[in-house]
Amino acid sequence: MEATKEIKLVNQKELKNIFFEIKWPTVIQTASIYVFGVIGVIGLLTGHWKFLTFLWALLIFIVCGFSMNIGSHRLLGHRSFKTNRVLKLILIFGHTLSGQWSIINWVRSHRAHHKYTDTAKDPTNIKKGFWFSHIYWMFWYSPAVEKAILSIDVSDLKADKDLMFQYDYFLLIHFFSVAIFPVIVPVFLWNEALWIACLANFTRLLANLTQLSVFNSVMHSHGPKPYDEKTSAVDNIFAIIFTFGEGFHNFHHTFPSDYKCAEFGDLKHFNLSACIIDWWYRRGWVTDRNEATKSMIAQTKIKSGDGTHWFESENILSNPQWGHKDEQKIEEFFKDFEF
Ligand SMILES: [Zn+2]
Ligand SMILES: [Zn+2]
Repeated sequence: MEATKEIKLVNQKELKNIFFEIKWPTVIQTASIYVFGVIGVIGLLTGHWKFLTFLWALLIFIVCGFSMNIGSHRLLGHRSFKTNRVLKLILIFGHTLSGQWSIINWVRSHRAHHKYTDTAKDPTNIKKGFWFSHIYWMFWYSPAVEKAILSIDVSDLKADKDLMFQYDYFLLIHFFSVAIFPVIVPVFLWNEALWIACLANFTRLLANLTQLSVFNSVMHSHGPKPYDEKTSAVDNIFAIIFTFGEGFHNFHHTFPSDYKCAEFGDLKHFNLSACIIDWWYRRGWVTDRNEATKSMIAQTKIKSGDGTHWFESENILSNPQWGHKDEQKIEEFFKDFEF
């Protein structure tokens, strides 16, 4: 009898702890995006949206996607190239539209993910399961993870007055760019009904959120590991297309400072984000692109890859059966490179 009472007390205490470990505002915000986003999809499929509203939602989704990839991730998160201030400000605005945290907090968490990948300090640790990495990770307060995130150096970002402006006035900017701007444009410019404009906004927020969730879940669970077989990060064709070229995640975890986030930065490999950076580079708007050398990549594949070469369309590596244990093929392969 006594033992049962004790067990009940423990369970109640655990429940109380779980309650306080949940980030309720994030749960409510995310649940709203899912519920109203899906209602918005139903509205779209049943013909309630004006065509211009659909184009507007699609445009914001695309702008946010590229701003996150090119701006928050490659430019500011990894410092993999440099750009002028105007372009940087556009990318910051695009990030703000996506409904994510401030860039400083976003980068802090992303750098922690790179530093502590697959450990208890990794904010989106895939070892806790696919859905934890996909979405649940945002809902839990974990002292170990919070401590790890706060230990990450973001002094380079704090020295940037544009980023500090976004950080200091974040709630105000966030409210305007997530809840007001995307809604008033369709209402005032082409007389969309207010409730449809709101639902369309929730739907595109859901699309943006899903795009980012794919980074943490799909890109750490389903696909080959040509560059480092020890990490959970993988290359994934669906993720590459859905995220405009970010899905070469095994490569990215192996060479985080490469501006292409991939071995291949061309259209043939769906790396739209790298193509845009290259186009800006040719116009003189981008400089100092960091890149891993071909020989560095080749050696890494042989040393630590899983032997798959699934996405290569040139040279002998196009044979997916070829593995790094095949000495003769390795020799042939290295003939193409100078050391
Ligand atoms: Zn990752
Ligand atoms: Zn990264």
